[in-house]
Amino acid sequence: MILLKEQIDRYVRQTIIPEIGEAGQKKLLESSVFVCGENVREISALTMYLAAMGIGNICCSLKDIRGYDDLFSNSIGLNSDVKIRLAHDDRSEAHIRVFLGTGTFVKKAVKACRDTGLKFIPSIISVTNQWRAVLKTFTDCRSLTNFMETLNSDKKDNFSVSFMSDMSGALCSMEAVKLCLNMGKTNDGLLLYDLFNMEFAAYESNEIEKAMEYFYRADEKSDNETFGKLSEAKVLIVGAGGLGSPVALALATAGVGTLGVVDSDCVKASNLNRQVLHAISRIGMPKAESAKISLEKINPQITVNTYGEYLSRENVADIIETYDLVISAVDNIQTRYLLNDACYFMNKPLIEAGVLRFDGTATTIIPHEGHCYQCIYPNVNSGVMSCAKAGILGAVPGIIGFVQAAEAYKVIVGAGTTLKNKILLYDGLEMEFDVINIEKNPECPLCGKNPTIKELQDYTVTCEIDEV
Ligand SMILES: [Zn+2]
Repeated sequence: MILLKEQIDRYVRQTIIPEIGEAGQKKLLESSVFVCGENVREISALTMYLAAMGIGNICCSLKDIRGYDDLFSNSIGLNSDVKIRLAHDDRSEAHIRVFLGTGTFVKKAVKACRDTGLKFIPSIISVTNQWRAVLKTFTDCRSLTNFMETLNSDKKDNFSVSFMSDMSGALCSMEAVKLCLNMGKTNDGLLLYDLFNMEFAAYESNEIEKAMEYFYRADEKSDNETFGKLSEAKVLIVGAGGLGSPVALALATAGVGTLGVVDSDCVKASNLNRQVLHAISRIGMPKAESAKISLEKINPQITVNTYGEYLSRENVADIIETYDLVISAVDNIQTRYLLNDACYFMNKPLIEAGVLRFDGTATTIIPHEGHCYQCIYPNVNSGVMSCAKAGILGAVPGIIGFVQAAEAYKVIVGAGTTLKNKILLYDGLEMEFDVINIEKNPECPLCGKNPTIKELQDYTVTCEIDEV
């Protein structure tokens, strides 16, 4: 036996994936990642996802260490297998370094590593700028040196919205796991993503200068946000699991005033490879209650309403009625269809997503304006597999959940381009993001010209129920 009994439970959603298995999980537990960021907020998601997935040694280098004690206790609270410590320099024999932050910070931090005589090891760098970020993996020293030249110190570092570092952190943790396991495609080129415009572009290694020019280009549109709208907003998150955790954390951090959390499950050990809202000490506690504890810690001003019940045809209208927007963060097909119908009838924007193994999807449904879930998936028994059967790598719902949070933010403040009439497809092994245009289906049984669905259905009867 490679893993201990309690480790088998904890990592089952990852070890069930053939590319990982118990041998891969053991390798992760023996791996060591050096994390470098300006402050705790910036490396929080990165560290939590590395810990959740079972990277055994995490060494944090921070310019400002305020709040580190909380990050430390949250990380080991999530996974007691993980050793996490603070380092003033990197003597930890790390296998991988991750640098995350503004261009100016990253440039200085990489230089500091070199100046102290540290030898090159594979490094992942993500630089954020407002709603944009770039991410690149370096497996040789020369390409790292060349990239540093493109981080122009003359350019102003703009304030980045809070979930940019979360999104970059989750993506960096994913790339770190792939490097540790020599799995999938490492990103030779550069990924540039813009959550305001929902644009993702992969640049080849000879196009990096061009990419960085675009990265630094000022985007006036995203400067004019109305932050006041966030504190008045009421968002309902259905599911406090793999997707619900990052969405709730990001929206609480961004300052959304009221969050409703619906979940009828209790916290289990097998949740903790990805459900970063929860903790070992809260195994057995209803997830909605556990979520409330974490969210109130992040933002003491927030109001968290909990619903420890299974969403059904009978209660859905009462629960969603007082909310401005609904996030579908569920793990079963019948609740997706139910939410799609209910949000259509009650005219509530719905941010929908799904994840499996290394992949994820997300879309934003604005009733009576754009497509709906049934327009894309008209067959309620289209055979979607569950994470319990197929497995899930912990960072994947993190990445997709932060996309959902960004979508919610834009819908609330009425800015940017959302995934309305679009679907985002993420392939984690290839690190590819595709945004595909979709159209409202005129034959859709819910939102089409001649609808057949005119009231809430009981999808537990029509859908094959997945064991979750
Ligand atoms: Zn439709």
